[in-house]
This record gives sequence, structure tokens and C-alpha cells, in this order.
Amino acid sequence: MAAATTPAPALPKIKTRKPRQRACDEKDGKGKVCCGHLKRYYDYPKELEAILGRGAEVYRCERCHTLFQPDPTELPRSYVLRH
Ligand SMILES: [Zn+2]
Repeated sequence: MAAATTPAPALPKIKTRKPRQRACDEKDGKGKVCCGHLKRYYDYPKELEAILGRGAEVYRCERCHTLFQPDPTELPRSYVLRH
């Protein structure tokens, strides 16, 4: 018989942040948009590090703690050359 199914780890939701998005667009149970401020999340736990790797660019909503990763098509801010 098949092995016991592994329970899904309780990881937070990771969404893709739209270009220039600064507020959380996650909706609550009543369909109201959260609008929490997205802050850069530096010291994320090991479980997230396993998924995202070390030093990944991650943002976290101040209110609902939904995680956001930058749109892969958008260049990281630190990469933009200003001359
Ligand atoms: Zn939120």
C-alpha cells in the first residue's frame, strides 16, 4: 500500500508582488482588501529559506503577514544602474 500522505507544511502564502505594488491586495473572508503595508522581510525563518534561498527579496504584509516576492520580470531595485 501507499505510504502515509505527508501533511502539507504550514507555510505562509507567497504571492507575486506586482510592479510598484506597495500595499497588500489580499482579501479577507469578507472580500475586503487588506491594504497592509508591504515591508522588506530580511530575517525570515529557515523553512522559508529552504524555499526561497538565502538573501531572497521578500516582502511581508504588516497586517496579514502574507508574503510577497517581486515579479520576476521586474528588475531588482539594487540592479538598476543610475548614471
Ligand atoms: Zn495583508
